[in-house]
Amino acid sequence: MKRITSILLLLTTILSSILFTACGHECTLAEGWRNNTTSHWHACTDPDCTKQTDLANHTWDVGVITKRATQEAPGVKTFVCTECMYQKTQNVAFQGLTEEEWNTALSSDLFINFTCSERTVLKKSGMEIVSIMTYEFEQGKGKITETIAGETASTLLPLENLSGYRQAIWMYLRMMTDYQDYYYEARSKSYKLKGVFTVPTYEVPVDTASVKFKNGRLSEISYTCKVTVEGTIYYLTSTINVTNYDTTKIS
Ligand SMILES: [Zn+2]
Ligand SMILES: [Zn+2]
Repeated sequence: MKRITSILLLLTTILSSILFTACGHECTLAEGWRNNTTSHWHACTDPDCTKQTDLANHTWDVGVITKRATQEAPGVKTFVCTECMYQKTQNVAFQGLTEEEWNTALSSDLFINFTCSERTVLKKSGMEIVSIMTYEFEQGKGKITETIAGETASTLLPLENLSGYRQAIWMYLRMMTDYQDYYYEARSKSYKLKGVFTVPTYEVPVDTASVKFKNGRLSEISYTCKVTVEGTIYYLTSTINVTNYDTTKIS
């Protein structure tokens, strides 16, 4: 009886080892993991054996941003399998500039050679005044061009006042672009007002405002406000465009 049990046990062991090793041999595992996009396993050193030992799904880590998203292109987040080190990537949508990136885009040293043009529309019932002020700066040169009601006049800035004007324009832009006052709206790729600031030229609170950046540089500020002159309310809409960074050439 004891012998029969032993034989049965032996048979069971042989049968199960045949069932568990498809190739009918004891696999010798190759070094390291094999993997595909979803899983990893240990392969057999026998090239004809297809058994995938320890087959399991990847176990992803929390992921790390390997390329920061910009307004112009999505970023990349990379995940690594903690077992086999297989990597996968995921696109990351742009969520708006960080405060640091915002302040970098507005740092004064970027505003040396540039063109800043402000178009203002002043409205009251049945009446509209359009004016455009353009400031152009290049190394050692500056020019103001003013257009009111279709009439244009230009003045070259005296060299001794150049840096003062440049600084004043930069400060003017900076007074309307406090990071804390805006939130990013992905749909319009612009920053919308959530706070409040005083419009520098008119010393009145702003009603609406939006800011745009292009390739990490300030490109547009637009705002609306109400200005009261001798009891009459004027509705003011203004768009400031900053262009030709480092390429402004004064004619
Ligand atoms: Zn094998
Ligand atoms: Zn893995």
